[in-house]
Amino acid sequence: MSDKQQTSDVVIVGAGPTGLLLAGDLATAGLRVTVLERRAAESNLTRAFAVHARTLEQFDDRGLADDLIATGQVIDSVQLFNRLALDTRKLPTRFPFVLITPQSNTENLLKERALKAGATLVRGVDLRALHQDHRGVALEVRAEGESVTHTAKYAVGADGVRSTVRDLLGIPFPGESVISSVLLADVRLRREPENVLTFYATAQGFAFVVPFGDGWYRVIAWDRSRPRPEGDPVSLAEIADITRTVLGVDYGLHDARWMSRFHSDERQVPNYRSGRFFLAGDAAHCHSPAGGQGMNTGLQDAANLSWKLAAVIRGWAPDALLDTYQTERHPVGRTVLRSSGAIIRLALARSAPTRALRSALVATAGHLGPLAEIGARQISGIGISYPAPKGSHHLVGRRIPDLRLAVDEPNGPSRLHEALRAGRFVLISNDELSVADPWADRVVTAAPADPHGKLRDTVLLVRPDGYAAWAGIDPSRGELRAALSQWLGTPGD
Ligand SMILES: Cc1cc2nc3c(=O)[nH]c(=O)nc-3n(C[C@H](O)[C@H](O)[C@H](O)COP(=O)(O)OP(=O)(O)OC[C@H]3O[C@@H](n4cnc5c(N)ncnc54)[C@H](O)[C@@H]3O)c2cc1C
Repeated sequence: MSDKQQTSDVVIVGAGPTGLLLAGDLATAGLRVTVLERRAAESNLTRAFAVHARTLEQFDDRGLADDLIATGQVIDSVQLFNRLALDTRKLPTRFPFVLITPQSNTENLLKERALKAGATLVRGVDLRALHQDHRGVALEVRAEGESVTHTAKYAVGADGVRSTVRDLLGIPFPGESVISSVLLADVRLRREPENVLTFYATAQGFAFVVPFGDGWYRVIAWDRSRPRPEGDPVSLAEIADITRTVLGVDYGLHDARWMSRFHSDERQVPNYRSGRFFLAGDAAHCHSPAGGQGMNTGLQDAANLSWKLAAVIRGWAPDALLDTYQTERHPVGRTVLRSSGAIIRLALARSAPTRALRSALVATAGHLGPLAEIGARQISGIGISYPAPKGSHHLVGRRIPDLRLAVDEPNGPSRLHEALRAGRFVLISNDELSVADPWADRVVTAAPADPHGKLRDTVLLVRPDGYAAWAGIDPSRGELRAALSQWLGTPGD
């Protein structure tokens, strides 16, 4: 171990969107958080553009949704193939759309929040070794020519698809390559596309055009007849040619400021937890960009893990709560791999039977509203729910929509997402809730705005990430106290 030592409650490796959201949550909860980032300087390269509804709800829970929306453009329908669109208009959410904004905007907002809340960001770090025992973790790094050991109670590897944390822990990352030799370019266009997002797939390949919002466009193009090794040079002429052929329009690509060739794998670690280490975001799962779900899924991993880590570190919850990160988020990752895999495989379809199947699916999905709706709920994240214990109330494990709340003091929260901004649980009931007073540092109490609405007899305990922890119909004070003890620990701890 090196001489210099730094101590935190949680060390996060990787200042991408996943690591930054987690850091902001933990620092807001009053914990000491250090984020270790390999890049010495900020990168202005952007990968993700699509921010889905559930992620926007999570931003709303942190008071950031309006700021993020102001950075981009909203669309309520994403054309996947000729007649198949992701239609978000009917989603039961405050945000029934997809926000198109460069990933750098999302990261900047999260970084500012994390730093403001007191997180420490260390750049230019080279992670060399990891250790853990029953008391905590130690991460040996080199930064600015010095060896430093960062110790903490827990650590999270949010260091992307080539995660060093995952490798040092020896966690396998099984899966397969799904597509290679996809070309990316950031360019100017002579002709502006009609839609915010332009996508089309043919038997030959696919092309995708999306705006940065400042006159620059990201173009993604793939042609099955031009497979090349990843390191091969990329020419703008080649990208322009594929784009023109697939989209049938010449947008006049010029002045490329950046070009790259990439490949996509579909992989997922079997375990998101290894003792006191956790993996989140691309470090835990990766898939093709089809459906625009990678960053969204990573952000929701972070939102799921942050309140659990905070509760366990403060002694409000047993260590076993941290195991639910695996039971809740691993199945979500697996579903995302399947859905993005299905989209990319249909987009890549070449054989006549598969293309016929694609046409049939497109026609069916186009006509059968419910099928398209299920797809929209899944891709937007609105349809995600978590396993509930047998016999529990039907709301347990479900995402709770942005319920309107009775405002009992000036500037008090008028809806659930505002109440969640305190980073605590929210207890909602028409009944008098003084039974929760001993846990006032962990739970916000509120009444539904409509006393005769769906929650009239129900008492609902919402987790800090917006999912129902517990619900009961007309519970006794004893039952409610038991539920609060189970979720919030012993008062005063
Ligand atoms: C072309 C393309 C388009 C995409 N479009 C979308 C989209 O529209 N919507 C969407 O949701 N997703 C999209 N994605 C996926 C999305 O970009 C990723 O899922 C997302 O960036 C993952 O975030 P992360 O924080 O988990 O990892 P990353 O963003 O990869 O961040 C990891 C961070 O860790 C740092 N790091 C790595 N190793 C170390 C180390 N050893 N020590 C310290 N730091 C380290 C890296 O420098 C980086 O800052 C797209 C991906 C691609 C390639």
